Amino acid sequence: MAKKNSNGGGNIPVKCSFCGKEPSYSDILVPSPLGDAYICSECVEQIEGLIKDYFNENGGAKKGKKNAADAPGTNDKLPTPKEICDFLNQYVIGQEDAKKYLSVAVYNHYKRLAQKADEVDIEKSNIIMVGPTGTGKTLLAKTIARQLDVPFAIVDATVLTEAGYVGEDIESLLVRLLQAADYDVEKAEKGIVFIDEIDKIARKGDNPSITRDVSGEGVQQGLLKLLEGSVVNVPPNGGRKHPEQKMIPVDTKNILFICGGAFDGIERKIAQRLNTHVVGFTGNSVRSKVDSDNYLKYIAPQDLKSFGLIPEIIGRLPVLVHLDPLDRTALLKVLTEPKNAIIRQYEKLFAMDGVKLTFSPDTLEFIVDKAIEYKLGARGLRTIVETIMIDAMYETPSTDVKELTITREFAEEKLKKAYIG
Ligand code: ADP
Repeated sequence: MAKKNSNGGGNIPVKCSFCGKEPSYSDILVPSPLGDAYICSECVEQIEGLIKDYFNENGGAKKGKKNAADAPGTNDKLPTPKEICDFLNQYVIGQEDAKKYLSVAVYNHYKRLAQKADEVDIEKSNIIMVGPTGTGKTLLAKTIARQLDVPFAIVDATVLTEAGYVGEDIESLLVRLLQAADYDVEKAEKGIVFIDEIDKIARKGDNPSITRDVSGEGVQQGLLKLLEGSVVNVPPNGGRKHPEQKMIPVDTKNILFICGGAFDGIERKIAQRLNTHVVGFTGNSVRSKVDSDNYLKYIAPQDLKSFGLIPEIIGRLPVLVHLDPLDRTALLKVLTEPKNAIIRQYEKLFAMDGVKLTFSPDTLEFIVDKAIEYKLGARGLRTIVETIMIDAMYETPSTDVKELTITREFAEEKLKKAYIG
């Protein structure tokens, strides 16, 4: 009943009655038993997908608004940007702009994955996040990956070098992703790679470092290839390329790259740009509107260029988001509010030993003040709490204590012992 198309001879149909296309040589046209109609195998596959979706939706899965694309890691529908943002809110304090941009960018990325070949080609929306260390760049990327249930890898740009130099090759970015996907190449090809410290591969114009400049541009060229989308041969076990090692080809076309960097000193570049732009008649009024406490929010692609990223890379990272420095109020919230807040983690650790752990409010404020004093930001909070808690964690399990309150005096004493004593 199935007939091959062209080159088959005889009275062969030329077009699929559904899509109207002429099937290629390898396609099969299935004739209708009722008459002169045919369907090609491509249409059959599409219809099969539609039927599966229909039953997934109506067979117990949650009903509701339809979204444009399927989440690639699961059969669930992809959440809307607002739903992605709500999820981020549970884990990340502040950074409203970054959350919004990221939610939209990720949503669009997966819509792009679902697009059909004959439509307008939606281009890739790789992301670059700029903000001081410890403000939540890695946390945002991790949280997004957690929600979307796709393979996710974090890599540090500083370990990358050109082939031949000491360090890891650019392909190592993909080894981590493959590992995260349990070597399922198809899954990895839809994953997310977070490249931390992207600013460390940039050439710094005003402070050139000999060692970094040797590889800086070469690494950027290598990275560019990945960002643009190309098939890369990945050594499955990482490390250097060995001729005898069987390579796994990975297409980076659909991998979402999120880059992060502190770009120390970029505020100065932004300020310079803003100041040079505000000369002339309207200068004063424009300048008065500029928030000089946080120049980062005016960041533009050209600021990255002046910092040493090659223009081609900047062009391949079209979503540029900034992260705000965390102030005292934000740090206090970081301690207690997120779903896996540091204080909640310690409470859980103690609860597992049957101990109710409490921190007095002034202890929390003391911890935040110390983090600010040590200029450690949110990254320092954990170290400080760990230092305060180490003795209690050591001793409490061998006692019959059922309740423990950490007071400011207790915290001060422990820190004094560790840092000053
Ligand atoms: P970055 O990548 O910007 O240097 P991270 O995302 O690694 O910083 O943050 C380090 C830690 O600090 C996180 O694991 C988290 O506990 C905390 N943290 C930082 N920023 C935030 C934030 N905005 N909201 C909640 N926790 C945060």
